[in-house]
Amino acid sequence: LGRKINSALADLNKAPVIDEQVLDGMLKDICGALLASDVNVKLVQRLRTNIKAAVNVQEAGAGINKKRLVQKTVMDELCNLVDPGAEPYKPTKGRANVIMMVGLQGAGKTTTCTKLAYHYQRKGWKTALVCSDTFRAGAFDQLKQNATKAKIPYYGSYTETDPVAIAMEGVDKFKAEKFDIIIVDTSGRHKQESELFEEMKQIAAGIEPDSTIFVMDGTIGQAADGQARAFKEAADFGSIIITKMDGHAKGGGAISAVAATQSPIVFIGTGEHLHDLDRFEARPFVRKMLGMGDLSDFVEKVQDLKLDQNKTLMKNLESGQYSLRDMYEQFQQISKMGPLSKLMGSIPGMPADMMAGSEEEGTKRLKRMMCIMDSMNDTELDSDSTPFYTQPTRVVRVARGSGTSVHEVEEILSQYKRFQGMVKTMGGKDGLFKNMPTDP
Ligand code: GDP
Ligand code: MG
Repeated sequence: LGRKINSALADLNKAPVIDEQVLDGMLKDICGALLASDVNVKLVQRLRTNIKAAVNVQEAGAGINKKRLVQKTVMDELCNLVDPGAEPYKPTKGRANVIMMVGLQGAGKTTTCTKLAYHYQRKGWKTALVCSDTFRAGAFDQLKQNATKAKIPYYGSYTETDPVAIAMEGVDKFKAEKFDIIIVDTSGRHKQESELFEEMKQIAAGIEPDSTIFVMDGTIGQAADGQARAFKEAADFGSIIITKMDGHAKGGGAISAVAATQSPIVFIGTGEHLHDLDRFEARPFVRKMLGMGDLSDFVEKVQDLKLDQNKTLMKNLESGQYSLRDMYEQFQQISKMGPLSKLMGSIPGMPADMMAGSEEEGTKRLKRMMCIMDSMNDTELDSDSTPFYTQPTRVVRVARGSGTSVHEVEEILSQYKRFQGMVKTMGGKDGLFKNMPTDP
């Protein structure tokens, strides 16, 4: 999907003038890609109408502004689709917050329950799990196993067959023990049968959840619309978690679910393990869907940091040229800006040990690298590091000048190579810079 939409947007760049015809052609490509990604047909039509209304090609300015306007509108409209603007439930301190999870069997409820509990636990909430799935054989064992791994207290029963009774017992027990967040896993059955919905309603009536979360498998495609509607009607959930968004999952199902229920997505599951739960944010989600992954996140952050005020650097980045001096200047800006670790995390190729330790240690490491680079001369700084390889004595000189070791200088050079490789991928004719919608 990403590639198709990106190439549609890139075609826009090739067109000398953008008229009605060019815009229509591009919209056709984009809508085709969205349909192929299982976005609901009606939504795609609405998107097309909205973009056409927002981009009045006759009235928009000329050249680059018009292109940017189109790109920005496409991006904004896609973001609107996954963001209904509703505030999701937030747990409050000092009381028990009961969260009930609903969804079809296999959607990922049990897995997600533990991930969510783990997420809150790490943030300092006293969290517990309740298994009220008496339908699936081994359901309690599965939850028990997950909860034990995450060191989260749990409640369930091998003998009790009434899910409502177990749910109420578990919630009461953890409420009495002053837990902050109690997450109740429910059964999913095989299809949307009336028994399932009846069971959900009874459990909800019994435990009176503060929040009900609908867990949906992100790979179900066009079925998302109907499934989300059915659960909304039966369980009146407040928010959504989309699972299995790792690998090649299409984002279309997620978009459809939000649009059908006007309920916000709060998290996405990105794998089978405890840590594989990401807070949902519309813009990065759409970017990922468009195939504009980590690199553009990096670029966006660089721009956030107002590095674009440094015109030469941005020009160099765009053209795919990148010297040691560019890297030095980036370090300089980064060390001024912080929070460093967060930014470091988004820089591809950044070795793990640079991010290790505290904020302070990271800044120190960066300063040390800059210190070493201060011993480089102009020829070296403005180069692509070639002089160091043709004349290795330069490495020795820089090491001596900065009171460090040859090894450390070589580290910086290989660091630079990684950055340079990354910039080459981003810049150039087909690079990300060209296709990236630019926020004004
Ligand atoms: P439930 O029936 O709704 O409780 O679903 P489960 O939690 O038992 O999950 C069903 C299957 O989906 C299991 O094999 C999980 O490991 C898997 N699963 C759940 N969430 C994710 C996810 O985000 N990514 C991947 N790849 N697998 C997931
Ligand atoms: Mg389950």
